[in-house]
Amino acid sequence: MTDTQVVIAGAGPTGLMLACELRLAGVEVLVLERLPERRTVESRAGGLHIRTMETLDQRGLLDRFLERGQRRQAVRFAADPLDVSDAATRYPYVLVIAQSEVERLLAERAVEAGVRLRRGAEVAGFIQDDTGVTVELADESRVRADYLVGCDGGRSTVRRLSGIEFPGTPATMTALLGDVELAEPPVDDIFQERRENGSFSVLASGPDRYRVLTNEFDHVAGRDEPVTLETLRTALVKIAGTDYGMHSPRWLSRFGDAARQADRYREGRVLLAGDAAHIHFPAGGQGLNTGVQDAVNLGWKLAAVVRGQAADLLLDTYQAERHPVAARVLRNTRAQTALHRVDAHTSALCEVLGDLIDIDEVRLRLAGMITATDIKYPTVGTDDLLGRRMPDLDLVDGRVYELLHRARAVLLDLGGLRSLDAVVTGWAGRADLIRTRPAQGSDLGADAVLIRPDGHVAWLTRTGQRPDLNGLRTALTTWLGPADPDFQGERKANSNDNEIPARDR
Ligand SMILES: Cc1cc2nc3c(=O)[nH]c(=O)nc-3n(C[C@H](O)[C@H](O)[C@H](O)COP(=O)(O)OP(=O)(O)OC[C@H]3O[C@@H](n4cnc5c(N)ncnc54)[C@H](O)[C@@H]3O)c2cc1C
Repeated sequence: MTDTQVVIAGAGPTGLMLACELRLAGVEVLVLERLPERRTVESRAGGLHIRTMETLDQRGLLDRFLERGQRRQAVRFAADPLDVSDAATRYPYVLVIAQSEVERLLAERAVEAGVRLRRGAEVAGFIQDDTGVTVELADESRVRADYLVGCDGGRSTVRRLSGIEFPGTPATMTALLGDVELAEPPVDDIFQERRENGSFSVLASGPDRYRVLTNEFDHVAGRDEPVTLETLRTALVKIAGTDYGMHSPRWLSRFGDAARQADRYREGRVLLAGDAAHIHFPAGGQGLNTGVQDAVNLGWKLAAVVRGQAADLLLDTYQAERHPVAARVLRNTRAQTALHRVDAHTSALCEVLGDLIDIDEVRLRLAGMITATDIKYPTVGTDDLLGRRMPDLDLVDGRVYELLHRARAVLLDLGGLRSLDAVVTGWAGRADLIRTRPAQGSDLGADAVLIRPDGHVAWLTRTGQRPDLNGLRTALTTWLGPADPDFQGERKANSNDNEIPARDR
């Protein structure tokens, strides 16, 4: 007998998003958060990228975030702005929004959805067996669940106790951060420079508020050394030659460029997501975004396993799909940290890169990587759309992302393919067959597409081609589990396997 189906350790952005996803699929979730109160002053991340906005849009949540954020046209690769205004998305910008606000909005949504959230509850240990996990709290109480997910940040207790290794590279530099007021701020809203003693940036972050960052290379400060306004002032004056009249700090912090990744994301009934699975320098603002997207990849899979619809092998696809994504983030943040260095050789490299970024293809390639819009999960099949995010196509009666609000798979029939009915009946309640047409002027070049709950394409049939219904059955089985046992439609489905799309008859 379990107390809940899934325990999530940590109510950061990753844990909260995962809780929302699981609840949407009808799973009982308990989130245990060590801190007694929500973080309001500390706000590490400052922006949402395109794919995260799209993901929130797929759940009908984005408007709440758009209302509270500011739009900026460029993402950054090291010091170089990458214009994303021509990206193929409804949201071609960065949404500048404090992490504390992201957490507030996600917590609000989680509670609305029926997630149980216990603050001041620290996960201190766990024991797993064949049927579940017993989670031990610091106050010596226990909770029994089918699965435990560690979303408990870079120093994850769950990771440490699971025996999962966290290999990578140690810090080589020290960055200081201050959310402050400035008596003499720079003119530009985003001011970034590399100077002889290091690099620094000053970013306008709100009315009369600024985020000041300094990067000092080849010096690694002790983890527990206190950070004061004077520490930040000294570092800034050393690098920039001025402190811009800094005063009234709201939050001060220190971090480094250690880059590490869990060697596996799962040990039996224990999984890792977000910073618990990967840490890196916050160059390009990718950590929170990657964590939220881990959650959206894992949520529907874990729900299918917990509800007994799919075998737990489905969980292995979480690691297969998301481990390479974070490995690439580690690689690009290491490269960006290197580009912040201030010697003559790095300056030359920055100039070469600046020239290359002027080439549209290079800019778009880097922007696709930072905004996570270019992700293509490994799939069977050669069509380039397979494994990629489904575009938010305009339809005669709405648009595609609105169809994903319930976090269920969608079989989108754009070509009047009656043969799909009999196939999808076997997965009724897990996949929604939606029969519609593209709006005038929008075309995907496909008659039907199977979209996973996370918005990635799992199967498709191109316009005018005979649909590969066996391929569709395989895709449905792979991602949603076997067809319902009382499903009688298989013979009927087979008899229609050679159907030609309605418009070609
Ligand atoms: C200066 C800076 C700027 C950044 N800017 C950006 C940016 O612009 N964009 C971006 O995408 N990312 C950015 N990041 C990274 C981003 O902040 C993290 O990637 C993000 O917070 C990860 O979210 P998470 O939920 O995985 O972990 P966390 O936010 O660390 O949350 C973990 C939660 O678990 C709780 N917890 C810990 N241990 C336990 C336990 N034993 N039991 C119960 N609860 C526990 C913690 O209290 C915490 O609430 C930045 C980071 C820094 C340092």
